[in-house]
Amino acid sequence: MKRTFFAAVLLAAVLILGSCESTAPESSGKDLFAMDTVISLKAYGGNGEKAVNAAADRLNELEGIFSVTRADSDIARINSLGTAKVSYDTEKVITKALGVCESTRGALDITLYPVMLAWGFTTGSEHVPTDSELSEALGKTDFRRVTINGGTVSVPEGYKLDLGSCVKGYAGDELAAVMSANGVTSAIISLGGNVRALGAKPDGSDWKVGVADPFSPNELLGKVCVRDKSVVTSGGYQRYFIDENGVRRIHIIDPSTGFPAESGLASVTVIGNDGLLCDALSTALFVMGKDAAISYWRENGGFALLLVTDDGVIYATENAGFENTSPYGTETIYE
Ligand code: ADP
Ligand code: MG
Repeated sequence: MKRTFFAAVLLAAVLILGSCESTAPESSGKDLFAMDTVISLKAYGGNGEKAVNAAADRLNELEGIFSVTRADSDIARINSLGTAKVSYDTEKVITKALGVCESTRGALDITLYPVMLAWGFTTGSEHVPTDSELSEALGKTDFRRVTINGGTVSVPEGYKLDLGSCVKGYAGDELAAVMSANGVTSAIISLGGNVRALGAKPDGSDWKVGVADPFSPNELLGKVCVRDKSVVTSGGYQRYFIDENGVRRIHIIDPSTGFPAESGLASVTVIGNDGLLCDALSTALFVMGKDAAISYWRENGGFALLLVTDDGVIYATENAGFENTSPYGTETIYE
């Protein structure tokens, strides 16, 4: 029996708190489906409608560049031809993502697409691959073999890129920039489990972003207060299937084994100024597990972290400003 769950729609609906006071100035909003998730844009004041439409256009442009399934996207051309001249966006995203692949020693690997295909994750045909299917796919996986030269990206034969771990984070920042260029000073953008706040709430206070409870995704664990930041959550609860033996197989893969990550974490939330980095790190730190994730935070800094372990303990770094409203206990992590 196989089942695939997409909690993204529900998540998008519950993630943003305190953005709908009756006293708030007029808002302009739009809900879209792109990057395989529900995306909602909300801007306050200024010429909000124009800004929201411009952001939606930019989103369509990014979807056209990064989609693995659209034959003429940058990523599809790299994956089918092995080498392709790409847009500035693609060059920027791949370069930054490769930096995270490196700094997490391969816990993030943007060449995992053959492994995702072996599991049927992107084609809706989820199944446990055979050992030989998996080792063949893993043999075509190594981010160190991606080269970028003068706007041309190349991969060895059979290698395929998957930027699903970080494009939504990048998109959040890009949409915020488009809104800002159109005069908007207060906006909230939700892309599945990624939220990007532009400025503060219209009343000048921080945005309150709800963090989903990984054990009960329609409930909240608590909230973080942010302005001009991304809040990105990765978890095993969002996309998974149940295999023939009743084992839950999540869509975040440990590149060292090719198997869904089983690191003892139920979710990882990264809060920071750079959406792409937050998104890439939320995936990588999930793979790495609690202790390695905390060490990474101590060594690299520049972001805040919320970890939820499989046994229901929340670990929040001291800079996360996390307000726990759940029945679980919180341990604070100090530098
Ligand atoms: P979501 O896209 O649901 O918000 P993530 O940001 O954690 O979740 O990205 C998960 C996606 O990234 C997977 O669907 C897959 O396409 C890709 N992926 C899975 N594991 C890895 C990994 N270890 N390194 C890089 N990409 C990964
Ligand atoms: Mg991610």
